[in-house]
Amino acid sequence: MSEDDINEVIIIGSGPSGLTAAIYCARANLKPIIIEGEPSSTSDQPGGQLMLTTEVENFPGFPEGILGPELMTRMRDQALKFGAKFITNKAVKVDLKDKIKRVWISDDTNTEYLAHSVIISTGAKSLMLNIDNEATLLGYGVSTCATCDGFFFRNKTIAVVGGGDSALEEAIFLTKFADKVHIIHRRDSFRASKIMQQRAMSHEKIDIIWNTEVKKINGNSKLESITLFNNVLNKEYELDLDGLFIAIGHSPNTEIFKDQILMDENGYIQTNNGTKTNLDGVFACGDVQDHIYKQAITAAGSGCAAAIDAERWLNNNLN
Ligand code: NAP
Repeated sequence: MSEDDINEVIIIGSGPSGLTAAIYCARANLKPIIIEGEPSSTSDQPGGQLMLTTEVENFPGFPEGILGPELMTRMRDQALKFGAKFITNKAVKVDLKDKIKRVWISDDTNTEYLAHSVIISTGAKSLMLNIDNEATLLGYGVSTCATCDGFFFRNKTIAVVGGGDSALEEAIFLTKFADKVHIIHRRDSFRASKIMQQRAMSHEKIDIIWNTEVKKINGNSKLESITLFNNVLNKEYELDLDGLFIAIGHSPNTEIFKDQILMDENGYIQTNNGTKTNLDGVFACGDVQDHIYKQAITAAGSGCAAAIDAERWLNNNLN
């Protein structure tokens, strides 16, 4: 191994945090390598979760709104312009504990990349119901983000699936826009905190459908209705809807980092003092370390912070 084989920084993941880190690292002349993911994958596709949305109206600088995939293409082009190098594979294995970090990718020969520092920006995936039409109508009536898409459902009838804090918080938020919000929960009691339960259950626009599972999502080019199954009455029926928000939890993409990096009980990477992880020279940004805000702009902001943290770390440790 020669010094030439060792990159200054490898960025794993190419959502808003990874691409912002790439732009900053490239402009700092760190020649970043971005392991961007695989186009064929639904959870690890280049560009991250925004590739699965349509209109983005809350990213500053785009008063007319911008399509999620276009926003990500622009960020990627910006990183390319400054010399970032993209590898269109997934990272399948890492060894981050030693001074030289190693990352293996999903090509035929499991090529290994070496670096002095690594920025982890692998994001999180929304848990899905895994029923027919769910993926096809994502962005066309089906959503996993109330903050992102609630605005499109002004005066409409919508439903939120789930019984945890996320579902109830999203349902309450969505009452700002929708005329009617159904919460569909598979059991007869919520998992959410008592205060959220009280708020949701006492809200005049919210109607709770207990003991009920979503069996089908109906519609061709956009959501029209869902088929529900009441598991106490053993009864199936259809509910007309304009929007369906799936809020049954998130899962951070941290499988390959297990046993190396400190994570919380839900698998989110723990950062401290900015974007530092417990491993020297390893930084984390975006949804992989954030279960609170989960927005493109907050991810981009933390990607910028990770690039600055990595650059300072390299200056202090390599020079
Ligand atoms: P969660 O607490 O794991 O709740 C997930 C909910 O989705 C549960 O009610 C679960 O039903 C339901 N569910 C799971 N899989 C399902 C499926 N296949 N079909 C139908 N329903 C399904 O997830 P979360 O609500 O995203 O919260 C995650 C963590 O973040 C929690 O610790 C939560 O307290 C926290 N959080 C806090 C706040 C806040 O404090 N403001 C806001 C959001 C989240 P069962 O109940 O039957 O299992």
